[in-house]
Amino acid sequence: MAHLLRSRVPTWPPPPRGPSGHTHQEHDTGQQCYDLLVIGGGSGGLACAKEAAQLGKKVAVVDYVEPSPRGTRWGLGGTCVNVGCIPKKLMHQAALLGGSLHDASHFGWEVAQPIRHDWRKMAEAVQNYVKSLNWGHRVQLQDRKVKYFNFKASFVNKHTVCGVSKGGKETLLSAEHIVIATGGRPRYPTHIEGALEYGITSDDIFWLKESPGRTLVVGASYVALECAGFLTGLGLDATVMMRSVPLRAFDQQMASLVTNHMASHGTRFLRGCIPLKVERLSDGQLQVTWVDLASDRKDTGTFDTVLWAVVFPVRGLPALSLVSCP
Ligand SMILES: Cc1cc2nc3c(=O)[nH]c(=O)nc-3n(C[C@H](O)[C@H](O)[C@H](O)COP(=O)(O)OP(=O)(O)OC[C@H]3O[C@@H](n4cnc5c(N)ncnc54)[C@H](O)[C@@H]3O)c2cc1C
Repeated sequence: MAHLLRSRVPTWPPPPRGPSGHTHQEHDTGQQCYDLLVIGGGSGGLACAKEAAQLGKKVAVVDYVEPSPRGTRWGLGGTCVNVGCIPKKLMHQAALLGGSLHDASHFGWEVAQPIRHDWRKMAEAVQNYVKSLNWGHRVQLQDRKVKYFNFKASFVNKHTVCGVSKGGKETLLSAEHIVIATGGRPRYPTHIEGALEYGITSDDIFWLKESPGRTLVVGASYVALECAGFLTGLGLDATVMMRSVPLRAFDQQMASLVTNHMASHGTRFLRGCIPLKVERLSDGQLQVTWVDLASDRKDTGTFDTVLWAVVFPVRGLPALSLVSCP
């Protein structure tokens, strides 16, 4: 590998600059050079790239979305745009509208009863809106002359990255500075039987075409509570299972206000419990077995969907290991 790196990967600095003074140029090896290369096209990476371009630098953004284990994939913009803040707020908005519709008749509005919610319709609207943001981000990069590559990046050396396209084509990109803005992804508790096989995460919930139905959300993070919150608001049966306290890093008085409010609106809480296994029953439902840590008693429940929202570790870095790029 060392031989490959020496013979095929040019070292920094690149050959003399062009008339523009910028380092963006193609080497005779086909390698492209930039002042700044940003790995990750999420909120952080895009902001960094746009700012640098505005300051006159030649910038490229490399972004690639590894599909979730359920096969969900999305476009440019990272977690916030595709599987975070934006779709979440739209689903909260859908839930809040439902609440207002229920209240409306008490304020004199004549609303046809019963009030029903169509997940399919909401999901389509949310997904179309997110796709419009994906496109908007691409246009903004283009307008600022930031080059966008839909590549999965790995480091070759400290100034060179190897980008691999969906089709497996490899391209070398080099830059004076490389920013790592690869964000994080939800993780499955793979030690729990059936967790990966039958569960989903927040990477999937916003892209479901059909209603998740009766849902068990495992975790006590803000992601867990927010998902359970909008599911309850949309009229679905949502249960949150947590090992200890909700919103651990937050003010606990506020955390209690949040969970009490949710409970008063119908979210069920299983506290001090941890899941042991998930099985699919013959009717397609998921049977979850858990243990109550205080009593050591095992219990089971059936759900249509199990959503894991347990931890939020950084997962981009392993993909950025050192490689040799032909
Ligand atoms: C359900 C949910 C709700 C949230 N709500 C809020 C909220 O209301 N307010 C708020 O402030 N925050 C919220 N967040 C958090 C927010 O979404 C993140 O903090 C933010 O998106 C992180 O941005 P980032 O640029 O660091 O990373 P990301 O947005 O994750 O972007 C990183 C990008 O890099 C790509 N990438 C990773 N490795 C590579 C590689 N090797 N090569 C190429 N590309 C790679 C990833 O696929 C991704 O597209 C929420 C998160 C979730 C999950």
